[in-house]
Amino acid sequence: MILQQIFDAINLGLVILDRDLKIQEWNRWMEVHSGIEADKIKNSSIFDTFPHLNNPKFTRSCKSVFTFGNFCFFSQKLHHYLFPFKTKSLSEINFEYMQQSCAMGPLRDENNNIKYLFIYVQDMTEVAIYEHKLVEINMRDGLTGIYNRRFLEIKLKDEFNRYKRYGGVFSIIMFDIDYFKKVNDTYGHQCGDFILKSVSSRASSLIRNVDYLARYGGEEFCCVLPETGIHAALAVAERFRTAILQQENNFDNNVIKVTISLGVAEFQKDMESDSTLLKKADEALYKAKKEGRNMVVVMQ
Ligand code: GH3
Ligand code: MG
Ligand code: MG
Repeated sequence: MILQQIFDAINLGLVILDRDLKIQEWNRWMEVHSGIEADKIKNSSIFDTFPHLNNPKFTRSCKSVFTFGNFCFFSQKLHHYLFPFKTKSLSEINFEYMQQSCAMGPLRDENNNIKYLFIYVQDMTEVAIYEHKLVEINMRDGLTGIYNRRFLEIKLKDEFNRYKRYGGVFSIIMFDIDYFKKVNDTYGHQCGDFILKSVSSRASSLIRNVDYLARYGGEEFCCVLPETGIHAALAVAERFRTAILQQENNFDNNVIKVTISLGVAEFQKDMESDSTLLKKADEALYKAKKEGRNMVVVMQ
């Protein structure tokens, strides 16, 4: 009687199965989240209501509980959930189904024979959302919302190693706003921030979703273009240049226009590391600055 009260009050899903995997107990938590009353589900096979559980991993785990008395853990990180319970939107990041960490283990009778199997279900959705947010914050630039330098460097290293190993083409574009110091000096730092956001959002709108645009430094950006040869990369760089040139930025009753200088470099199989590629693009950018700005230079 007392144990039954705990069974129904605890903030965990508890399910008890017999050796035929028929449901013997289904606590209040499971009723609330599944919308299925215990009386309706008891004595039916768990696969009747949850046919997706009839998979090798789940059935093997049940077998090892009944045969060896093992405990099995189903991590949210690997499996996301065992029981598909729809979630309500908690924040802008949402999972369609409740994220669950689950475990199963044996229940023995007075003769120490394994008679039942218990499953407990822990709601991990809030933790998973929080984790997701932390990862996002860690890879994004606070001002512009595009990727930050840390993320870019990790991604670029990955791409570089992948292409070095399997071959193929990819390119990068480095660009920097021309005479940006003058924008800050003339219109103020807040206006400078506004321009940075405006330039990054315009450039973002021009790339495919397999490309990565990152804020590399103050007013310097880097774009990684997978599966893109030098000619196509040059075309993207030209598109950036003209789009930024034409963009009118309205701030505090002023219309401010800026230009960018760009350096493009293509991955070469004999390059030693990703920093060689970055250096190439940076040299090209430096040349674009030296030769008059508002232009694209390719480093061969
Ligand atoms: P160049 O054409 O040679 O690139 O000249 P520039 O003035 O753009 O370059 P410089 O390196 O002299 O100045 C860059 C300026 O960018 C200086 C710095 O104050 C400004 N800056 C860097 N980060 C930020 C930021 O987050 N917000 C604002 N408003 N300004 C920034
Ligand atoms: Mg600049
Ligand atoms: Mg700069």
